[in-house]
Amino acid sequence: MADQNNRPVVTRFAPSPTGYLHIGGARTALFNWLYARHRGGKFLLRIEDTDKARSTEDAIDAILDGMNWLGLDWDGHEYYQSQFWARHAEVAHRLLERGAAYRCYMTQEELAAQREQARAERKPFRIDSPWRDVTEGQGDTPFVIRLKAPREGETVIDDEVQGRVTVQNVELDDFVLLRSDGTPTYMLAVVVDDHDMGVTHVIRGDDHLNNAFRQLAIIRAMGWPEPTYAHVPLIHGPDGAKLSKRHGAMGVDAYRDELGLLSEAVNNYLLRLGWGHGDDEIISRAQAIEWFDLPQVGKSPSRFDFKKLENLNGHYIREADDARLADLVAPRLPGADKALLVKAMPELKARAHTLNELADGARFLFVQRPLDVDEAAAALLTPDARKILGAAYAKLGALAEWEPAVLEAAIREIAEENGVKLGKLAQPLRAALTGRTTSPGIFDVLALLGRDESLARIADQMEPTE
Ligand code: GLU
Repeated sequence: MADQNNRPVVTRFAPSPTGYLHIGGARTALFNWLYARHRGGKFLLRIEDTDKARSTEDAIDAILDGMNWLGLDWDGHEYYQSQFWARHAEVAHRLLERGAAYRCYMTQEELAAQREQARAERKPFRIDSPWRDVTEGQGDTPFVIRLKAPREGETVIDDEVQGRVTVQNVELDDFVLLRSDGTPTYMLAVVVDDHDMGVTHVIRGDDHLNNAFRQLAIIRAMGWPEPTYAHVPLIHGPDGAKLSKRHGAMGVDAYRDELGLLSEAVNNYLLRLGWGHGDDEIISRAQAIEWFDLPQVGKSPSRFDFKKLENLNGHYIREADDARLADLVAPRLPGADKALLVKAMPELKARAHTLNELADGARFLFVQRPLDVDEAAAALLTPDARKILGAAYAKLGALAEWEPAVLEAAIREIAEENGVKLGKLAQPLRAALTGRTTSPGIFDVLALLGRDESLARIADQMEPTE
């Protein structure tokens, strides 16, 4: 499908590689990806590495890794903005030739004086360069190239998210396009690259809305097709304040490695953060591609709710394939036996929200005897309880089969014979077998551990019967 100029839809994600791929950037990437897929267009990735001093290889790797993990594949190769410096400079010179830009020879002192005067008069600072209408060069004197920004009228943007936004052109300044060392500014580079890459839809955080008016001035001066803009409100913390590390503004790799989340849960959560489809909470990727559109992006900042993300992750864990979960959990459990993990997974995943909780729940399977019994579990191992464990040991040891159904019948019998409720036996049994007060069902625990290990763990805690 095409845009209003009949161009095929092209979106892009344009991160600056100065840090990790944070959650806001990941959401911007997801929205661009979904929109392109929804419209049958292309999704491009451009690394904006113009700030050479602050860009790092590690940050580039983290961005690519994060995108891959989230399954946000881009079309073709990734672009690196710094490769196009010559082209940016060429466009700056084209603007000069067209009379849409000028060489500005103002010195730092002159600029500072204007700034000082604006402050004294309590006016917003707008550069007023004496070079705006001078076309001849001034020999070897260093200069910057500035856009000759329009001063009359207004600029209107019909933003797909923000609606109609208008700025009086007197508000726009003659900003720098090319620095005196010949390097392009962000404002110029973005516009040139978007044009050259055929970008039709610019979907990004609304912290860039002000830039859009300046970028549009360059686009109009070049007579290029104008993109459709969609400026998405930023993500705030649960308290409404700007998202900070405390709130979850960390790299997506930390969501995977430290928090133990699945990428489908993070995708689903990010999609719902600022976009909605009725009351739907669980949205598959296929549905997201079918439904995603820009008008349903909300206009107010969304609040990051970690509990909601965790619950969504719990849902996706329950849906996930057991072997895949075992692969993801095994590295978190030194000495884990993968076959046993797979076998235990249906029980384990029923109660876990994250891979960390899954690993925590599985730990009892792989710990060495004698077990570290936690405080709450130790409190259950009273002298009476230890006696009942002794009775259980004798009876279980005599079983011909070691299957959940057989074990259940035996445990119920032991409880009855000893005149206690099932819980009074199951609780100390769980404490002895797992060292904890919560675990999968006790019959499954016995079955998973097997006869020898189960009996040995019980023996470690019991008071033998005479
Ligand atoms: N590189 C800019 C950033 O990371 C994004 C530029 C854009 O999306 O137009 O904030």
